[in-house]
Amino acid sequence: MREDNFRKLDPYVPGIQPAFADMIKLNTNESPYPPSPKVIEASERFNAADLRLYPSVDVGPIRDALAEYHGFDRSCVFVGVGSDDVLATIFQACFNSGRPVMFPEITYSFYEVWARLYNISVKKIPLRPDFTINADDYCGVENGGVVIANPNAPTSIAMEKGDIEMIIRSNPENVVVIDEAYIDFGGESVLDCVPKYDNLIVVRTFSKSRSLAGARIGYCVANPELINVIETVRNSINSYTNNRPAIEMGVASVKDEEYFRAMLAKVIATRERLAKELRALGFTVLPSSANFVFATPPAPLTAAEVYDRLAEKHIFVRHFKIPGIDNYLRITVGTDDQVDTMLAEVKKLI
Ligand code: PMP
Repeated sequence: MREDNFRKLDPYVPGIQPAFADMIKLNTNESPYPPSPKVIEASERFNAADLRLYPSVDVGPIRDALAEYHGFDRSCVFVGVGSDDVLATIFQACFNSGRPVMFPEITYSFYEVWARLYNISVKKIPLRPDFTINADDYCGVENGGVVIANPNAPTSIAMEKGDIEMIIRSNPENVVVIDEAYIDFGGESVLDCVPKYDNLIVVRTFSKSRSLAGARIGYCVANPELINVIETVRNSINSYTNNRPAIEMGVASVKDEEYFRAMLAKVIATRERLAKELRALGFTVLPSSANFVFATPPAPLTAAEVYDRLAEKHIFVRHFKIPGIDNYLRITVGTDDQVDTMLAEVKKLI
């Protein structure tokens, strides 16, 4: 067959999902805690016989639950199969001008993959030397849209709300996407700005703070006109997306605020301890507002050496072989026990 029949792409490479019984998995920013007991109950209540029916086209129950939870009309909410699905749909729907989409040079690397997939040109903006995002770089520049992860990944650093609003206000003609995958762990959300700015889309996920990575639920909140544009693209690809059990589990999660808050508090407390102990070992740890830390070991130890030693012990963290961050490790906050086991191994290397 002719080669030119086929797309050539460099796909996003997710963290490995190794399968060792004794594995400590701190590499993909999942929650170390199970979802709410109400989610478990919902899964047990689910009648598998109902799987013969398609789920509701607009994922009604979870859309309604999220609209009520955040205080928006349901027409402001779009739900997808994880926030990756929501973001991919936004890229297709909202970055259609031919002008470049701007995002930080070091950020969630899937943004660039979607841009290439959908033939969207990109303008990558370097971070400051301290890995923070300079809002001025995104203002007064010709572009076809802006995407910012707040807190940013893998740096874990959150941006000031005022800076984000400045970017939104400076780009009234283009869509500004704020990916708040990690916002429940720190930083200030701009969800309440949605009624103020008709170019703002805020993206959220159930994968991290709601312990539901395996259920694949993400959503975005924006004005109804933007939601309608996104839905039109969705309905041009696949009408039935989130599956029935996921919808029911997602609703149950949204309705258990107490458990949600309790798990966040645990992760945040462990994060602070992890950062403190790594610093005591000589690591430089960036200020984290997420459920992971981004840290570089004291010389002469390298991130690659730490990664390899931990992997030998079946402890998995993330090491990106990307210039500028290749001596850093992204370590997901685990349970206190998991973190202690990891720290004990690191101590042996120092
Ligand atoms: N945005 C960011 C910044 C992320 O780190 C991730 C997790 N890989 C996602 C979006 C996607 O998460 P999910 O599809 O599980 O909602």
